[in-house]
Amino acid sequence: KRGQDELQRLRTSIEELDPKSPDITKFSDLPLCEATASGLRASHFESLTDVQKVAIPFALKGRDILGAAKTGSGKTLAFLVPVLERLYHAQWTEYDGLGALIISPTRELAIQIFEVLRKIGRKHQFSAGLVIGGKSLQEEAERLARMNILVCTPGRILQHLDQTAGLDVNNLQILVLDEADRIMDMGFQSAVDAMVEHLPKSRQTLLFSATQSKRVSDLARLSLKDPEYVSVHQDA
Ligand code: ADP
Ligand code: MG
Repeated sequence: KRGQDELQRLRTSIEELDPKSPDITKFSDLPLCEATASGLRASHFESLTDVQKVAIPFALKGRDILGAAKTGSGKTLAFLVPVLERLYHAQWTEYDGLGALIISPTRELAIQIFEVLRKIGRKHQFSAGLVIGGKSLQEEAERLARMNILVCTPGRILQHLDQTAGLDVNNLQILVLDEADRIMDMGFQSAVDAMVEHLPKSRQTLLFSATQSKRVSDLARLSLKDPEYVSVHQDA
């Protein structure tokens, strides 16, 4: 089957990929599935930013990532591309439930992430939802059970993990903590700790932050396994 051939070819390319290769400058230099590659092209993303150049190859290889790069450096695609690829490689379908959880400190940022996901993920079949409150817990809960990818604020997803029976996180493949410094500054530390407790240990975790701080490294110690540190200082 064509899909199986693509998968096998990508797996081999990822194994052979040198994550630090200076030849990786564009999305088209990365071993990405055709659905993601064409979603990126259709969204007019071509060159990689510095954080994307390093974070995406390591994440494709399955590594946990601790990424620090200032606002505007392109962290959103640095995690959304690996999220789509991880589910593609797992041959995730609409029947497989929740595969990816993306945590953002504010509703506004969660909405922005969701919009980028909709753009670059348009060629994929995955279902995706926003869990940011503003609707009744019950109303949100009914939609949750069918979602493959969720973009959430910390307090709200914890409420669902505690109360929504239909939310099954046992097969979760990948967790993203975006703006980890702000998540901590806003006092979500215990919500995130409690959430991580619910999640399977076998998952991959990508943690991104604009700044490095003691609280971020505390969070990293609790949620990441042997992370690759990606720290870039570029003029945006
Ligand atoms: P951060 O999360 O690091 O603050 P974003 O992911 O929000 O940064 O990206 C900042 C801006 O850069 C956005 O407008 C986004 O569309 C743009 N951008 C991100 N990656 C690329 C890229 N590879 N090529 C062109 N523009 C990009
Ligand atoms: Mg961001």
